[in-house]
Amino acid sequence: MAIKESNALDLLKGTDIIVDGLDTMTARRAVNQASYALKIPYVYAGAIEYYANISTFIPDETGCLYCLVGDMEDNPENTCANVGVSPMLLSLVGAIEVREAVSLATGRQPRLAGKLMHADIDVLGFDTFDIARSDACPVCSAAPSTSSSESDELSITMLCTNSFSISPSKPLALDLESVVTRVETQRLLRRKTSVIIKFASGISVTLMNTGSAVIKGAKDKDEALSVYHTLVSH
Ligand SMILES: [Zn+2]
Repeated sequence: MAIKESNALDLLKGTDIIVDGLDTMTARRAVNQASYALKIPYVYAGAIEYYANISTFIPDETGCLYCLVGDMEDNPENTCANVGVSPMLLSLVGAIEVREAVSLATGRQPRLAGKLMHADIDVLGFDTFDIARSDACPVCSAAPSTSSSESDELSITMLCTNSFSISPSKPLALDLESVVTRVETQRLLRRKTSVIIKFASGISVTLMNTGSAVIKGAKDKDEALSVYHTLVSH
Protein backbone atom coordinates (compact mmCIF):
# COMPACT_ATOMS: atom_id res chain seq x y z
CA MET A 1 0.00 0.00 0.00
CA ALA A 2 1.30 3.48 -0.91
CA ILE A 3 1.36 5.97 1.93
CA LYS A 4 -0.11 9.34 0.99
CA GLU A 5 -1.80 12.37 2.51
CA SER A 6 -5.23 10.71 2.54
CA ASN A 7 -4.12 7.66 4.56
CA ALA A 8 -0.96 8.73 6.45
CA LEU A 9 -2.77 9.72 9.65
CA ASP A 10 -4.67 6.42 9.86
CA LEU A 11 -1.61 4.30 9.04
CA LEU A 12 0.71 6.02 11.52
CA LYS A 13 -1.69 6.52 14.43
CA GLY A 14 -0.44 4.64 17.50
CA THR A 15 3.15 4.47 16.22
CA ASP A 16 5.96 5.39 18.64
CA ILE A 17 8.70 6.23 16.12
CA ILE A 18 8.64 6.64 12.33
CA VAL A 19 11.72 5.36 10.47
CA ASP A 20 11.85 6.33 6.80
CA GLY A 21 12.59 3.74 4.11
CA LEU A 22 10.53 5.59 1.50
CA ASP A 23 11.44 6.34 -2.08
CA THR A 24 9.46 9.45 -3.00
CA MET A 25 9.21 12.97 -1.63
CA THR A 26 5.43 12.83 -2.06
CA ALA A 27 5.22 9.98 0.46
CA ARG A 28 7.72 11.70 2.77
CA ARG A 29 5.69 14.92 2.74
CA ALA A 30 2.61 12.95 3.85
CA VAL A 31 4.62 11.22 6.61
CA ASN A 32 6.10 14.55 7.73
CA GLN A 33 2.67 16.14 8.07
CA ALA A 34 1.30 13.13 9.95
CA SER A 35 4.39 13.06 12.20
CA TYR A 36 3.72 16.63 13.37
CA ALA A 37 -0.05 16.18 13.58
CA LEU A 38 0.32 13.03 15.72
CA LYS A 39 3.45 14.25 17.62
CA ILE A 40 5.51 11.22 16.56
CA PRO A 41 9.30 11.60 16.02
CA TYR A 42 10.33 11.01 12.41
CA VAL A 43 13.76 9.61 11.43
CA TYR A 44 14.16 10.72 7.81
CA ALA A 45 16.60 9.36 5.24
CA GLY A 46 16.93 9.69 1.49
CA ALA A 47 19.62 8.00 -0.62
CA ILE A 48 20.56 7.97 -4.29
CA GLU A 49 23.73 6.79 -6.04
CA TYR A 50 26.47 7.38 -3.42
CA TYR A 51 24.74 10.19 -1.52
CA ALA A 52 22.37 10.27 1.45
CA ASN A 53 20.69 12.77 3.73
CA ILE A 54 19.60 11.76 7.22
CA SER A 55 17.84 13.73 9.95
CA THR A 56 15.56 13.28 12.95
CA PHE A 57 12.54 15.54 13.25
CA ILE A 58 10.89 15.86 16.66
CA PRO A 59 7.52 17.65 16.80
CA ASP A 60 7.52 20.85 18.93
CA GLU A 61 11.30 20.54 19.36
CA THR A 62 12.96 20.74 15.94
CA GLY A 63 12.09 21.90 12.45
CA CYS A 64 10.57 19.40 10.06
CA LEU A 65 11.19 17.97 6.61
CA TYR A 66 9.31 20.87 5.02
CA CYS A 67 11.68 23.33 6.74
CA LEU A 68 14.51 21.44 5.02
CA VAL A 69 13.23 20.85 1.49
CA GLY A 70 10.05 22.92 1.11
CA ASP A 71 7.84 21.82 -1.78
CA MET A 72 10.63 19.90 -3.51
CA GLU A 73 9.21 17.44 -6.03
CA ASP A 74 10.70 14.14 -7.13
CA ASN A 75 12.93 14.42 -10.17
CA PRO A 76 11.68 11.66 -12.54
CA GLU A 77 15.15 11.38 -14.14
CA ASN A 78 16.90 10.98 -10.79
CA THR A 79 15.33 7.86 -9.31
CA CYS A 80 16.84 4.69 -7.90
CA ALA A 81 15.50 2.90 -11.00
CA ASN A 82 17.43 5.23 -13.31
CA VAL A 83 20.66 6.00 -11.51
CA GLY A 84 20.72 3.30 -8.82
CA VAL A 85 21.73 3.42 -5.19
CA SER A 86 24.76 1.76 -3.68
CA PRO A 87 23.93 -1.21 -1.38
CA MET A 88 26.87 -0.12 0.80
CA LEU A 89 25.19 3.25 1.26
CA LEU A 90 21.85 1.68 2.21
CA SER A 91 23.38 -0.47 4.95
CA LEU A 92 25.17 2.57 6.34
CA VAL A 93 22.07 4.77 6.25
CA GLY A 94 19.96 2.01 7.82
CA ALA A 95 22.45 1.67 10.67
CA ILE A 96 22.40 5.41 11.35
CA GLU A 97 18.59 5.48 11.29
CA VAL A 98 18.45 2.58 13.77
CA ARG A 99 20.96 4.40 15.95
CA GLU A 100 18.63 7.42 16.01
CA ALA A 101 15.54 5.28 16.64
CA VAL A 102 17.23 3.49 19.57
CA SER A 103 18.13 6.85 21.09
CA LEU A 104 14.50 7.94 20.83
CA ALA A 105 13.24 4.64 22.29
CA THR A 106 15.64 4.80 25.24
CA GLY A 107 15.06 8.46 26.07
CA ARG A 108 18.39 9.75 24.84
CA GLN A 109 18.68 12.79 22.60
CA PRO A 110 19.14 11.67 18.97
CA ARG A 111 22.37 13.00 17.48
CA LEU A 112 20.60 14.24 14.35
CA ALA A 113 17.72 16.08 16.04
CA GLY A 114 17.65 19.49 14.33
CA LYS A 115 20.59 18.49 12.16
CA LEU A 116 21.12 17.10 8.69
CA MET A 117 23.85 14.54 8.03
CA HIS A 118 24.98 14.45 4.40
CA ALA A 119 26.91 11.26 3.62
CA ASP A 120 28.91 10.74 0.44
CA ILE A 121 30.49 7.29 0.30
CA ASP A 122 32.17 8.07 -3.04
CA VAL A 123 34.64 10.32 -1.22
CA LEU A 124 33.79 9.03 2.29
CA GLY A 125 32.64 12.48 3.32
CA PHE A 126 30.28 13.02 6.24
CA ASP A 127 29.07 16.54 6.98
CA THR A 128 26.48 17.62 9.53
CA PHE A 129 24.52 20.85 9.26
CA ASP A 130 22.14 22.60 11.63
CA ILE A 131 18.60 22.87 10.28
CA ALA A 132 16.87 26.13 11.11
CA ARG A 133 13.17 25.86 11.92
CA SER A 134 11.31 28.02 9.42
CA ASP A 135 8.89 30.53 10.96
CA ALA A 136 6.96 30.31 7.70
CA CYS A 137 6.72 26.50 7.65
CA PRO A 138 3.11 25.45 7.03
CA VAL A 139 3.70 22.12 8.84
CA CYS A 140 5.56 22.84 12.07
CA SER A 141 5.34 26.59 12.61
CA ALA A 142 2.86 27.76 15.25
CA ALA A 143 2.38 31.03 13.40
CA PRO A 144 2.76 30.47 9.66
CA SER A 145 3.94 33.58 7.91
CA THR A 146 4.78 34.46 4.35
CA SER A 147 6.84 37.50 5.27
CA SER A 148 9.81 37.63 2.92
CA SER A 149 11.96 39.56 5.37
CA GLU A 150 12.00 36.59 7.74
CA SER A 151 13.20 34.27 5.02
CA ASP A 152 16.37 36.35 4.71
CA GLU A 153 17.44 35.67 8.28
CA LEU A 154 20.43 33.45 8.89
CA SER A 155 21.19 31.39 11.96
CA ILE A 156 24.86 30.99 12.79
CA THR A 157 26.27 28.57 15.37
CA MET A 158 29.87 27.99 16.44
CA LEU A 159 30.52 24.24 16.16
CA CYS A 160 34.03 24.24 17.60
CA THR A 161 36.99 26.60 17.50
CA ASN A 162 37.02 28.53 14.20
CA SER A 163 34.20 26.39 12.78
CA PHE A 164 30.71 27.78 12.14
CA SER A 165 27.41 26.42 10.84
CA ILE A 166 25.19 28.86 8.92
CA SER A 167 21.62 28.12 7.83
CA PRO A 168 18.99 30.30 6.19
CA SER A 169 15.63 30.25 8.00
CA LYS A 170 14.04 28.94 4.80
CA PRO A 171 15.79 26.51 2.44
CA LEU A 172 17.19 28.10 -0.69
CA ALA A 173 17.51 26.49 -4.11
CA LEU A 174 21.08 27.46 -4.97
CA ASP A 175 22.57 26.79 -8.37
CA LEU A 176 25.95 25.55 -7.11
CA GLU A 177 27.48 25.82 -10.58
CA SER A 178 26.83 29.56 -10.67
CA VAL A 179 28.08 29.87 -7.07
CA VAL A 180 31.41 28.24 -7.86
CA THR A 181 32.05 30.42 -10.93
CA ARG A 182 32.50 33.29 -8.48
CA VAL A 183 35.39 31.46 -6.81
CA GLU A 184 36.77 29.63 -9.82
CA THR A 185 40.41 30.23 -8.90
CA GLN A 186 40.03 28.26 -5.66
CA ARG A 187 40.23 24.52 -5.07
CA LEU A 188 36.89 22.80 -5.37
CA LEU A 189 35.29 19.46 -4.67
CA ARG A 190 31.92 19.17 -6.37
CA ARG A 191 29.24 16.81 -5.14
CA LYS A 192 25.67 16.20 -6.17
CA THR A 193 24.02 18.54 -3.69
CA SER A 194 26.99 20.30 -2.13
CA VAL A 195 30.35 21.78 -2.91
CA ILE A 196 33.51 22.13 -0.83
CA ILE A 197 35.51 25.29 -1.51
CA LYS A 198 38.98 25.88 -0.10
CA PHE A 199 40.16 29.48 -0.09
CA ALA A 200 43.81 30.51 -0.25
CA SER A 201 43.29 32.11 3.20
CA GLY A 202 42.89 28.60 4.66
CA ILE A 203 39.14 28.92 5.13
CA SER A 204 37.10 26.04 3.75
CA VAL A 205 33.36 26.03 3.10
CA THR A 206 31.02 23.09 2.64
CA LEU A 207 27.94 24.57 1.00
CA MET A 208 24.68 22.68 0.44
CA ASN A 209 22.32 23.69 -2.35
CA THR A 210 19.76 24.48 0.38
CA GLY A 211 21.99 27.37 1.53
CA SER A 212 23.27 25.65 4.69
CA ALA A 213 27.02 25.81 5.13
CA VAL A 214 29.83 24.77 7.45
CA ILE A 215 32.71 27.24 7.43
CA LYS A 216 36.03 26.11 8.90
CA GLY A 217 39.01 28.34 9.61
CA ALA A 218 37.18 31.65 10.14
CA LYS A 219 38.46 33.66 13.10
CA ASP A 220 35.00 34.76 14.23
CA LYS A 221 31.31 34.88 13.27
CA ASP A 222 31.74 38.08 11.27
CA GLU A 223 34.41 36.56 9.08
CA ALA A 224 32.32 33.38 8.64
CA LEU A 225 29.31 35.48 7.57
CA SER A 226 31.46 37.59 5.25
CA VAL A 227 32.78 34.45 3.52
CA TYR A 228 29.24 33.05 3.35
CA HIS A 229 27.97 36.21 1.65
CA THR A 230 30.68 36.04 -1.01
CA LEU A 231 29.07 32.75 -2.04
CA VAL A 232 25.39 33.29 -1.21
CA SER A 233 23.85 36.69 -1.82
CA HIS A 234 20.38 37.31 -0.46
ZN1 LIG B 1 8.74 22.72 9.36
